[in-house]
Amino acid sequence: MKITDHIEQAKGTLISFEVLPPLKGKTISSVYDHLDPLMEFKPSWINVTYHRSETMFKKKVDGTFEKVEVRKRPGTVGICAAIMNHYQIDAVPHIICGGFTKRETEDALIDLDFLGIDNVLVLRGDAAKNESSFEPEVGGHNYAIDLLQQVTNMNHGLYIDEDIKNGGKTKFCPGVAGYPEKHFEAPNLEIDLQRLKEKVDAGAGYVMTQMFFDNQKFFDFVKQCREIGITVPIIPGLKPITNKKQLSVLPRIFHVDIPTDLSNALMKCKTDLDCEQVGTEWLIQQSKELKAFGVPVLHYYTLGKPKVIWNAVKQLV
Ligand code: FAD
Repeated sequence: MKITDHIEQAKGTLISFEVLPPLKGKTISSVYDHLDPLMEFKPSWINVTYHRSETMFKKKVDGTFEKVEVRKRPGTVGICAAIMNHYQIDAVPHIICGGFTKRETEDALIDLDFLGIDNVLVLRGDAAKNESSFEPEVGGHNYAIDLLQQVTNMNHGLYIDEDIKNGGKTKFCPGVAGYPEKHFEAPNLEIDLQRLKEKVDAGAGYVMTQMFFDNQKFFDFVKQCREIGITVPIIPGLKPITNKKQLSVLPRIFHVDIPTDLSNALMKCKTDLDCEQVGTEWLIQQSKELKAFGVPVLHYYTLGKPKVIWNAVKQLV
């Protein structure tokens, strides 16, 4: 079922979770072990992130270096199918521009369609680790909006492969990313919001946000989106802070601010367990306030911390 249909038919605030594919070598049981306890909350769907391969230089016996592409986590197609089969729940693969040609993307979308996957979260992806800024693959897409166009074209039966005539129409409901604190490459929030509106005008059914720790930033973002005519559902992405290291890691990697009250409370903590308690309490307060604001869905980035998410969501249901 499409995310937009889930939201339209909802009687209250929905819950959804996000997982990473397991590291290569681990089995699908590691995903089920992670998700099993969270199923108690009857999530409406599960998102699965995509992790592009990394270029590494491995030393050979003769002392020279060999350039190799290393993929640490498998792709999303198999894991989404497994989650759907195992739990009879919708799985939402993240699809990215980086590292893919349009033809490769077309093949992946055909596989997803065959598996009955109705939703995709359409993203550009970040720069590869060995690049200073995002470089599209030769024959790939530059921006999320270009990938989105490919998805909507397939929904109209239009394929890249010129030999396909009267192609079957896929029925993907595409979502896109939004940034309450601005995407780090955008010159300002106004321009970033215009880019977001272009994605929505090009067919995105909903917006899912980057994590944030200050709800006011989300409320302002929603207001600004509505003012420029973005009318689709806006889903807040939520993540707990569970250790002090994240006070510098999260701003560096995700370009988000940590509110002073939260950073002060975390700095006073003596152990990771203390930090986890502070982070959980913050997440509960954030979730309650967002629920009261009337968000359609509370989307939790579980990222290796299902117990913390369980403790927080338990307080809401
Ligand atoms: P875009 O919408 O293409 O925007 C990228 C930048 O370009 C922005 O600054 C925008 O303002 C600007 N821009 C957009 N269109 C144009 C244009 N036509 N001309 C000039 N500038 C333009 N990454 C992963 O690798 N895997 C994941 O699974 C993943 N999941 C994510 C989930 C969510 C909810 C979010 C918020 C992010 C996720 N990301 C993921 C990270 C994302 O890929 C990065 O933030 C990436 O840098 C931008 O992706 P985007 O889809 O927002 O890009």
